[in-house]
Amino acid sequence: MASQPWNPSTWRSKPIKQSPAYPEPAKLSQVVKELSRMPPLVHPNEIIALKSHLRDVAHGRAFLLQGGDCAELFDYCEQGAIESKIKLLLQMSVVLIWGTNKRVIRIGRMAGQYAKPRSSPTEMHEGKDIPSFRGDILNGYHVDERDIDPNRLMKAYHYSAATLNYIRASIASGIADLHRPLDWGLGHVRDPILKEKYSAITSSIQQTLHFLEVIKSRSDELQTVELFTSHEGLLLEYEQPLTRLLEAPSSPPGPNASSRAPSPPPPVDDDKSNAKEAYYDTSAHFIWIGDRTRQLDHAHVEFFRGIANPIGVKVGPSTPTSDLLELLRTLNPDREPGKITLITRYGANKVGELLPKHIRAVEDSEYRRCVVWQCDPMHGNTLSTPSGIKTRRFNDIYKELQESLRIHKEQGSYLGGVHLELTGDAVTECLGGSEGLEEDDLSTNYTSFCDPRLNEKQALELAFLVADHFSQ
Ligand code: PEP
Ligand code: MN
Repeated sequence: MASQPWNPSTWRSKPIKQSPAYPEPAKLSQVVKELSRMPPLVHPNEIIALKSHLRDVAHGRAFLLQGGDCAELFDYCEQGAIESKIKLLLQMSVVLIWGTNKRVIRIGRMAGQYAKPRSSPTEMHEGKDIPSFRGDILNGYHVDERDIDPNRLMKAYHYSAATLNYIRASIASGIADLHRPLDWGLGHVRDPILKEKYSAITSSIQQTLHFLEVIKSRSDELQTVELFTSHEGLLLEYEQPLTRLLEAPSSPPGPNASSRAPSPPPPVDDDKSNAKEAYYDTSAHFIWIGDRTRQLDHAHVEFFRGIANPIGVKVGPSTPTSDLLELLRTLNPDREPGKITLITRYGANKVGELLPKHIRAVEDSEYRRCVVWQCDPMHGNTLSTPSGIKTRRFNDIYKELQESLRIHKEQGSYLGGVHLELTGDAVTECLGGSEGLEEDDLSTNYTSFCDPRLNEKQALELAFLVADHFSQ
């Protein structure tokens, strides 16, 4: 398969899962054409910089924090929502840097996480079967907006651009100045134990020279940080027109030439022998293949095998061990370290049986130390309450992460990252945590239109779990 010719449209000849039936093919073609002339949302240099950071993660030298909404809505493109998510990711990073003594690479599920795979194309609403909500890029959550509208693909581009613009602007303007971590505050978190733990860490960070070494002792590194973007690459009609044959330096740029905003393009190199052309999916720095679309001979794997971005693959109870190696051989035939992140999501009850098998299959093969192992403790732990509310128990999420850390240690591999659904808002969507949220509390502030997210406090508790594991 890997030796077959590839271009951004070869996926069209393959069978495809989760593909929408667009009502107006002519309209779709027109939108796709328009998208193909829009400027890239991210620069290849940024993509290459992220790939080189992920190589460090694969080698155990850095830690990857990825998080954001399950389904980002166009409505979330708003100052407060964007800032609170950036701040939460940065606060978690502080805890993780302190605990792991490693650099933390941050990727938001932001600025493009608009397409959702669904287990059923329709759902019941007031006794009527209506089309399921498939994410703002295709249809609207409101019952009157469930028809698929190709114009939404263009809207998704514009909302991604506006979100990304504000992420870049905030970071360039010092939202993440690590000189002032204490000033960030802990928002909605009122738990005194968590607050005390967090402030002990931030003040020790301010004092310790070792921290400065970890982040390379550079004052400009202290003033700003990087935040990359990601989404599930589900809608290939959207990904294809944003995939471009572009040049980037053959050697990855140094830490200063990456996506810190605003990021100037590198100096023009007159000697083109240094530049390497490749297909970059410029819709985000990192995209991943979901659990429902990773069939070896299907369209998504075909599309992903040709792009130069670092990519993720969700791995779950339905992934045969033999598929795992075939996926790596297809998606990363050159065995670039950090190119593939395996995002494991088994569920608290299955991780103990399945993760060791998957680790051995990969680490005993030619892909040893080549992948980033990332734990997604969310998607194997979704349940419905008797009254039909989709939720997750914080204890299950905590247990899957704890088990994954333990198993990787036992197997001699490195758990290099976590993948979380979270929000900076004080939502009540997951049960438990130190607040002890119960079923009756879920309705207090349940605002997700898809999967239940961790609130700020629950997310920080997970960061402490990882920090404690590595600092012991
Ligand atoms: C998701 O990450 O929101 C998702 C749908 O995950 P998965 O593909 O692992 O089910
Ligand atoms: Mn989800």
